[in-house]
Amino acid sequence: MLYLDNSATTRVLPEVYNEMVPYLSEYYGNPNSKYYDQALKSQDAVKLARERVASFINCKDDEVIFTSGATESNNFILKGYTHANKNKGNHIIVSEVEHSCVLNTAKFLEKEGFDFTYLKVNHNGVVDPKELEKSITDKTILVSIMWANNELGSINDIKKLSEICSKHNVKFHTDATQFAGKGLIDLEEYNNVDFLSMSAHKFYGPKGIGMVFVRKDDLGFYPEITPLLHGGEQEFGLRSGTLAVHQIVGMGKAAEIAHNNLEENIKNLKKYEIQFINRMSNVFGDKIEINSTYDNKIPGLVSIRIKNYNNQLFLKEAASVLSASTGSACSNAKPSYVLKACGYTDKEIRETIRFSLSSYGEYNDFEEIN
Ligand code: PMP
Repeated sequence: MLYLDNSATTRVLPEVYNEMVPYLSEYYGNPNSKYYDQALKSQDAVKLARERVASFINCKDDEVIFTSGATESNNFILKGYTHANKNKGNHIIVSEVEHSCVLNTAKFLEKEGFDFTYLKVNHNGVVDPKELEKSITDKTILVSIMWANNELGSINDIKKLSEICSKHNVKFHTDATQFAGKGLIDLEEYNNVDFLSMSAHKFYGPKGIGMVFVRKDDLGFYPEITPLLHGGEQEFGLRSGTLAVHQIVGMGKAAEIAHNNLEENIKNLKKYEIQFINRMSNVFGDKIEINSTYDNKIPGLVSIRIKNYNNQLFLKEAASVLSASTGSACSNAKPSYVLKACGYTDKEIRETIRFSLSSYGEYNDFEEIN
């Protein structure tokens, strides 16, 4: 079985799995308990995981807040920041091609009285920084724009977009779920990014665990954000609930590996992408067209149209040998709003398949691809 849906999720690396298991069997203490060895072991494990995630994105350890995944992280920033700061303004800016967990949160907040601007994107799904600047008003309090798009892989100019927000005294959030592990995230260098979300399962960690980066100010204070979950005040009071130690350990290990192997993984993904495209072009010739031919894109994600062939039918027919998707795994049944916003026709959208490769050669079986 050929698995080419690594943008939907990835396989947990054996090193990650092996580090997680003892926290399910031997070391099952609650890290918020005190004094006894079991609790201290769990505390140490969470501390190490937090350090590993922090060095993956180059931020301070206590700016890493563990969540259940990017969906929660995105909900937390959009709902929590707007709730706590509604006295400053009620306008939020997002792009038209954000993940559904941002766009559906936006719909929810509109009903609560917030005003949203949905920025248009170009044919590759990229936001124009000038359009962002034009959209900012004196009521704008938050901007949320994804680092890399999950259907086309296109990369936004996060440096420029966050600088514009800082100039206008507006907080900037980016959903880096698809970018993490496929490009360098350096939050000391990108010092105008205030919030960032990601999920471990996109870089060979377990599902159901993610994080949100919350930048502290010069005095060491977090910005005002209303938590989604109130309770025992874990995660610096920003996200309550007993910590999922084994999941956190898994995310930490996956982040360490993704950090150490970043250059190698990018190089591999580029190589496999070229091999894959060449093979597809040789076999199918002008029966296929590649949507994602531009440079400014995460490596390994290939969006292809098989002309005059319905994508759902294709995937259904190929399902016994091939796993891929028509776009986002979260809304696979509906025609892609992302491609629609990028100007693709309905026919083109119905022909599009997203193949996403693994950075580990043994997980892309080229013999099988051939
Ligand atoms: N944002 C983007 C860009 C994604 O691709 C995904 C996963 N499809 C998410 C957010 C949500 O991540 P999760 O399902 O792990 O919460």
